[in-house]
Amino acid sequence: MSDQAGPHDRPQTMCPAFGSLRVGLRMRRTATVLAGSACCVYGLSFTAHFYGARRSIGYVPFDSESLVTGGLFEDIQQAVYDLADPDHYDAVVVINLCVPTAAGVPLRLLPEAINGVRVVALEIPGFGVPTHAEAKDRLAAAMLHYARREAESGPVAAPRSGRGELPTVALLGEVFPGDPVSISRMLEPMGLAAGQVVPTREWRELYAALDCRAAAAIHPFYTESLAEFEAAGRPRIPSAPVGRDGTAAWLEAVGAACGVDPQAVEAAKEAALPDLEAALAAAPIEGRITVSGYEGSELLVARLLVECGADVRYVGTALPHTPWAEPDRAWLEARGIPVQFRATLEDDTGAVDAYRPDLAIGTTPVVQHAKERAIPGLYFTNLISARPLMGPAGPGSLAQVINAAIGNKERFDAMNAFFAGVGQGETAGIWTDEPQVPPRVQVAGGDQQRHGEGR
Ligand code: SF4
Repeated sequence: MSDQAGPHDRPQTMCPAFGSLRVGLRMRRTATVLAGSACCVYGLSFTAHFYGARRSIGYVPFDSESLVTGGLFEDIQQAVYDLADPDHYDAVVVINLCVPTAAGVPLRLLPEAINGVRVVALEIPGFGVPTHAEAKDRLAAAMLHYARREAESGPVAAPRSGRGELPTVALLGEVFPGDPVSISRMLEPMGLAAGQVVPTREWRELYAALDCRAAAAIHPFYTESLAEFEAAGRPRIPSAPVGRDGTAAWLEAVGAACGVDPQAVEAAKEAALPDLEAALAAAPIEGRITVSGYEGSELLVARLLVECGADVRYVGTALPHTPWAEPDRAWLEARGIPVQFRATLEDDTGAVDAYRPDLAIGTTPVVQHAKERAIPGLYFTNLISARPLMGPAGPGSLAQVINAAIGNKERFDAMNAFFAGVGQGETAGIWTDEPQVPPRVQVAGGDQQRHGEGR
């Protein structure tokens, strides 16, 4: 399977456009418009509102005629003009889904701005963007690109909260709201502060993000956004301040990137590490764990689990290997823990079967696979990535949810024994009569058996 394979080749991956849609929906004064098949837009709207979007999603429908005659582009253009009211919006984001992208609907012909409202148009097809995480990067990078050109050509607005006194380190990747506070505390002895988190929540925060001393790839898949920081002349820092080793290495990397006096770097480490060591000692985790997900922070979570004492056997991530994940990959593999980038569902469930962990952390189908085998599972997105990871708050928060889940093993065993053989294969569903199962026979030309087919 190609490294760029998306949901069309790997149907267990969610529609990538959700990543861009979510970034747009979370920004103030930003309208988001989708152009695509109604079924895709329905699914994306449903998921966005399930995750609390509380914002309208614009939709430009099409039919065969408007697609082939160019009418769809005119409809999109009209929708953008109708929306571009500077009293309400700073930006309008337009996203072409699979069909308009495949049909070549030319979003590049849209104006860059209408009445002062920026128009940011991009194509996020399932056959071109492998994961929703990378689609977040696509939109964040498109906005950074736009904002960088604005900042280069004249004065721009300051952030709503004003500019801080200390130079900042911008943070790439969605993090728990308390994490930037923990990071700021760690950076303070070096005369630095945590800067804007990208994706930002408002257009003017893009300028503040670019106005950093360095950019930290907290989530290592923000490669297009990092290229914008590079173009702005900002050094980039891999990994994140997670656990003892990760924090020590990250503070050193920040110091080197920002030209901080080595004594100040040592002071920052001396201030941060004892509290972290105490937090790790107070948060022991015992048990064998497999970790997988599509958020991009899987390696960071695995590092913290290992430092809490967990026996991590496998780390799978749907994201690609980038230089910004390299310190985490090297740290994990030096401890004999295999890291699978661009992991498929089969890789992840295969690891669960191979290692029979006490806990499987993963995507919904991985957790389901584990629970069917009476193995406790935790959904990465909702239960792991929505917690603090950085600083002394990280170990205790993680250990609490992990230990509670591992402690459920007996309940899983009891349920498994009670329901053994019920609701699987031919026994699924409600039957008044005994199901008549046709005999399994060899499929012609194949090596699998199916019911009721002969040579
Ligand atoms: S836009 Fe493409 S990847 Fe997304 S749901 Fe539709 S067909 Fe699937």
